[in-house]
Amino acid sequence: MRKRTLFVASLLTVGLTGAFVPGASGALTPAPARAQGAQDDPTQTLVSRLTLDNYKTMLKGLTQFGDRRQGTQRNRDAVDWIEAQLQAVSCTNTERIVYQYNPAPRNPGPVRNTGARRGGPPPPPDLTTPTGGLVGRNGNGPGGSSVYGYRARTGVNRDLDAQPDERIRNLNREEPVNGERSEVYCTKIGTTRPNEMYIIGAHMDGHGVNEAVNDDGSGTALVMELARIFNAPDVETEVSIRFALWNNEETGTNGADAYVAQRRDLQGVESPAGSGRYPEPTWLGMIQHDMMMWDHGAPRQDGTVSRDQRPEADVNIEFQSDSEMAEESMKLAFVFKAAADTYNTDYPAAVGPHMTNTDSRRFQDIVPSISLRENERGAHTGGGWNPTWHTPLDVWTTFTDDDFRLGLNAAQTTLSAISQLTGATVGGR
Ligand SMILES: [Zn+2]
Repeated sequence: MRKRTLFVASLLTVGLTGAFVPGASGALTPAPARAQGAQDDPTQTLVSRLTLDNYKTMLKGLTQFGDRRQGTQRNRDAVDWIEAQLQAVSCTNTERIVYQYNPAPRNPGPVRNTGARRGGPPPPPDLTTPTGGLVGRNGNGPGGSSVYGYRARTGVNRDLDAQPDERIRNLNREEPVNGERSEVYCTKIGTTRPNEMYIIGAHMDGHGVNEAVNDDGSGTALVMELARIFNAPDVETEVSIRFALWNNEETGTNGADAYVAQRRDLQGVESPAGSGRYPEPTWLGMIQHDMMMWDHGAPRQDGTVSRDQRPEADVNIEFQSDSEMAEESMKLAFVFKAAADTYNTDYPAAVGPHMTNTDSRRFQDIVPSISLRENERGAHTGGGWNPTWHTPLDVWTTFTDDDFRLGLNAAQTTLSAISQLTGATVGGR
């Protein structure tokens, strides 16, 4: 039996309250309003430690591994680099999930949407005719929920020659092979409730013969930046926080699958008994970050997309309306919106019901689960709003500071919400 009702009443009570702290028995207990200045607000202090430069530097670092496609050396090198970065920002208790990924060989179907021409130099990337142009009106193409208005074609580029940048082509030459995979996480241990945690995730693998900047370097860098800030020596949280960089998202969330399969039954178990240590704190919520930066509006009638960010750009917080935890996930989404309304510097946040197609779906029937994105997953990304999605255009040079700043605002949203939910303090206050 799936829950589909009873959203509205709780929405009205949750959505209008500004601050939340953990209660004695779990998440999402509203806190009384605090009568104090901004200088005494630990959440404001933490948000001020996020900067555009730091976010961009972390994201740029990820581009050295090309598209970080799973099953390649560049993917393994990226996992190693991420682990070293987490340790460098004092999230030193890194661990790995190890699993096997052995898919049957692919059908070598037609290569789609690459723009490549055999026998000549590849065409330069062109944002005005990005992925094949107009398909039609009103949802007659693939992907997601109902789409109104025009939609553009989407698809995964598999053609090396479609990438015009020789350096990036060379980074991405190796094809995946079956076998062992790993993914890394680290944990901020809570002071009073170390046996409970929020999981903050993003997927570090990408594909499309590019630098996987937006999908999903933008979410990976966000999670790594939050790991830096929450693990600063003067920061404490009552509740634990896990920072997880999933692998194999692009093949069907196989890395998140492996995590849930291996860790679900260990929740809340003290090990060794009497040690006060909980290798898998009980899950209070899962917050995924997947594609944070591109919000340039709908395709035009001819299938082209604007080079400029749209004036309505926002952070989309989504829960899954047909999941077992739909009502609890919606409440969590509105806690995040309330935090965004208070702490985001440049962009608002909006809540929607169509999370789908990212690692948090593996958690959505177990624990309150949401995703943060640049666009609504079904109507926008699925409708071709993002010409960089899985294409040679997902490279550093495509994005402007407007785009990077939208990613930064998503980081502000999650940082402030999690600060409140975990009872964070800075310097003992
Ligand atoms: Zn993604």
